[in-house]
Amino acid sequence: MKALVFHGQEVVRYESGLDDPQIWDEGDVIVRVLRAGICGSDLHQFHGREPVADGTIPGHEFVGEIVEVGSAVRSFSIGQRVFSPFTTCCGKCFFCQNGLSARCNHHYCFGYQPPVGVDDGGKGIQGAQAELLRVPQAETTLVSLPSDLSIETALLLGDNFTTGFFCADSAEIRREGITVVIGCGAVGLSAICAAKYLGAEQIIAVDRVASRRQRAASLGAKSVSPEEALECVQKYAARTGQNGADSVLEAVGHPQAQRLAFELVRPGGVISAVGMHTSEHFSFSPLEAYDNNVQYKAGRCPVRSYLDRLVPEVLEGRLHVPVEKIVTHNGVALRDGPQAYEQFSQRMDDCVKVLLDPTLGSSTLK
Ligand SMILES: [Zn+2]
Ligand SMILES: [Zn+2]
Repeated sequence: MKALVFHGQEVVRYESGLDDPQIWDEGDVIVRVLRAGICGSDLHQFHGREPVADGTIPGHEFVGEIVEVGSAVRSFSIGQRVFSPFTTCCGKCFFCQNGLSARCNHHYCFGYQPPVGVDDGGKGIQGAQAELLRVPQAETTLVSLPSDLSIETALLLGDNFTTGFFCADSAEIRREGITVVIGCGAVGLSAICAAKYLGAEQIIAVDRVASRRQRAASLGAKSVSPEEALECVQKYAARTGQNGADSVLEAVGHPQAQRLAFELVRPGGVISAVGMHTSEHFSFSPLEAYDNNVQYKAGRCPVRSYLDRLVPEVLEGRLHVPVEKIVTHNGVALRDGPQAYEQFSQRMDDCVKVLLDPTLGSSTLK
């Protein structure tokens, strides 16, 4: 098969003639990938902040069609279209049973193979930026794609949109309070929609990139640069007799974003962080946290746990997934993947979200 393959820091190649994935366990299925997203967290691996083994196929966001099923798989059959959270889950352990599927005791991570000498406990499996993908724990991980849900919507529900929703949902949003969203990429834009759905009336969105601020503004947020954010929050707060932001949704995963969140949140307010931080320390001290009664919530979104709640909300029109604001590069051929990584990591061509289409043979990028 063909796939994108990581070969050390900032080297991703399009390769053909790779071995097709096989069924290893009776609970596996093999999926033919129809779309695979390139995610901000793939860039951590690409840039070497989260090293992976040479030969890793990246990608943990996908929609596909089942082409082979293990002998124990009952709920899915060949030809069925499915989408997926970015980690698998067993459906039975304490975490799966209590809404934290991302911390399943038996989960696997798509698109991660540990580098030599690192023991990941066998969690890593190959990723979705490929023609074919093996999905373990298929029964309890995959979701059947409803006919009236678009492939793009389903793909975003598998990671970015649901992560943005989780970020907002964890932030104890108050209707009349001040909600700040830091980072207006795919997750931040999703968090704005989720904050509105959860009742937030005053949303301030923060991003360095002007075109991303425009996207946030078109979703109903007041949009400012990081340098303008503190003054903007203070202005809002003065108008309504408040003391700062009640909820800060941090969707960047960088120390500066974390520090800004701390500067903006009021004493007793909530910082909800879903950006994957790779720095070793907090950018505020334990004493600063104490002095401001900060509540800090962080972590990987339990996508599978959320999908049972979000899919009906989306299908029934109460919750909008703004595919048109998020997906800037749709249907990119795998062979153009290396160029797409470059565009996404450099934010060239207003690149917010790339969806690869591994079924395409010839080049699609100019
Ligand atoms: Zn992702
Ligand atoms: Zn589990």
